[in-house]
Amino acid sequence: MIKKPFFGLKKPELKYCLESFPFEDIPASREAILFLKKLNGKSEEKLLKVGDNVKTGQKIKAFPDSPEYVISPVTGKISSIFPYTDALGQAYEGIKIESDRNDDWDDQFTGEATLETAIDFLEFAPGKFSFRKFSDVTKKVDTIIINGMDVDLGITVNQEIVRTNSSRIKEGIDFLKKITGVSNFIIAVPENLSKEANRTGATVKTVSATFPDALPEMIIKNTLGKVVPAGQKPEDIGVAVISAESTAAVGEAFATGKVPVIKALSVVGKNGKVINVKARIGTPIGDILSKYNVAPEENDRIILGGPMMGTATYSKDLPIEPNTEAITVQSESDSAQVSDYPCISCGECVRICPVRIPVNFLCRFAEFGFYEDAERYDLNSCIECGLCAYVCTARRPLLQYIKLAKHELELIKLSEAVNE
Ligand code: SF4
Ligand code: SF4
Repeated sequence: MIKKPFFGLKKPELKYCLESFPFEDIPASREAILFLKKLNGKSEEKLLKVGDNVKTGQKIKAFPDSPEYVISPVTGKISSIFPYTDALGQAYEGIKIESDRNDDWDDQFTGEATLETAIDFLEFAPGKFSFRKFSDVTKKVDTIIINGMDVDLGITVNQEIVRTNSSRIKEGIDFLKKITGVSNFIIAVPENLSKEANRTGATVKTVSATFPDALPEMIIKNTLGKVVPAGQKPEDIGVAVISAESTAAVGEAFATGKVPVIKALSVVGKNGKVINVKARIGTPIGDILSKYNVAPEENDRIILGGPMMGTATYSKDLPIEPNTEAITVQSESDSAQVSDYPCISCGECVRICPVRIPVNFLCRFAEFGFYEDAERYDLNSCIECGLCAYVCTARRPLLQYIKLAKHELELIKLSEAVNE
């Protein structure tokens, strides 16, 4: 379990977990919860109502003029529709589905392997990879990197998929070649998984086991020698990074003709014990924790994701989403406590930052809502690894300031685009 030192006298070296934890299957819960993003300024006319029946694999849209959709992970009836706002203030339509516990598969998804089909049905598949980047003619992706590592500490999902399901990844690569036209595939794995990765047919590159080397920007830099410029995305330099889980999901979807609805994730308990599970997308996290007798107590922290980059949540009713890599439970004594103390200019955050950002200055602006000034201090170069917050002497919530500033700037830019 990670403990944060009060004084960062030595640069900490945090290691990824490389152990194998076989997946355990969790049966469908009695309900599934899904969140559909609302678009600012768009029509509020709704397509859904309580009592509607849905099938497993069915595409669900809430608003007629929105590109956003979710895929029902169960067969059942919509029992509730409610507003939900996430930690950054993004509004969603929450949809609760009461499950029949029997799957009646929807047949809208034909399984025809085209880019259009992937955009239409697989944006909500496990891993939540967006295929829309391949339809942008101004960005020519020529290399796809499959990330066989897990980006945060304690998580072993993608590694376990490489270890146990290289044949599905290979199928996924074959379909990705067909639908994107890209022929150059690299798979990035830790040294111990080179043999399994070789079976996928992609060029194998090994990744160090030191955090944050498994983050997409670091993998691109270390395998291709390319740097993603500030404010740009990997596809702007011709690269797409997709997780091993998403690649396997593409293989499964087009090979079986069914949209995958099962998410793999690591459950990390307070004692640091890891259990890898497979559960339906939409399963309440409380159902998973209670199955393994993981009982958070008052002041314990439930984190969606890993300890460095995850988001603490207040409710066990929140669901597993397509991009939920882990549920990490930390006791109060193991949790990094944050404060609103001012920065003491010790420079620890700047020294640890892998992309050399002046984090101390950036966060002084972000804290008080001067987001455009924060942008001038390399906000957009941040890869959100969380190392600065991990070493901050004053225990300032630096990563939260950074995420908030990025989100607010995005909203400002969106609203400027709408008003143009
Ligand atoms: S989260 Fe902090 S340490 Fe990591 S890249 Fe961003 S500013 Fe640097
Ligand atoms: S933000 Fe934290 S780590 Fe960075 S200079 Fe200030 S007190 Fe030190």
